[in-house]
Formats: sequence, structure tokens, C-alpha cells
Amino acid sequence: MPFPNTRQALQDNGYVFNHTKTCEACNVQIEMWTTPKDNLMPLDFKRDEHQNETCEPHFASCKKPELYSRKLREKKEKEKAAAAAAGPMNPDA
Ligand SMILES: [Zn+2]
Repeated sequence: MPFPNTRQALQDNGYVFNHTKTCEACNVQIEMWTTPKDNLMPLDFKRDEHQNETCEPHFASCKKPELYSRKLREKKEKEKAAAAAAGPMNPDA
């Protein structure tokens, strides 16, 4: 199933608008929607030249997508832990 990319398609697929917020990483306004699996998903809404409104997940353009994805956050933390385990950076090495 393609990702529902309009408000109507989202609602038809069981997504529910939750709240609007400003992404702290990008400083743009995004909408948080509750997915059918009860997760919160950040969406960017934009209008094309015909004033048709479409949306896409904010992960796609976010500077810090890990703010919104537990999976990405865990990946980041694993990388951090791996870097810490490798010891402090030594500029003389
Ligand atoms: Zn962002």
C-alpha cells in the first residue's frame, strides 16, 4: 500500500490528526498524526501549483530524524556506544 499522502487518505486509512508543532531541529511547522498502530508520526504538508495539499513523513527531510523515530534513536545510541567503546579520539594517532 502506498503511503497515504493527503489528509483524506490519511483519515481513510485510520490516521488521526494529533497536534501541530515546530520541529526543533528544522524550525518548520509540522503536524503530528497518530497512526493506526498508535504511533505518533511527523508529517510535512505542502501545496502544489494546483493547491492540492499533499504530505510526506517529516523523517524524509528532517535534519534530526532520530527525534521522531525510536528506531533511528536506538541506532544513534548504538553508534555512540560503539564510538565510546573505541576510546577517546586521539588527534596524534
Ligand atoms: Zn525536522
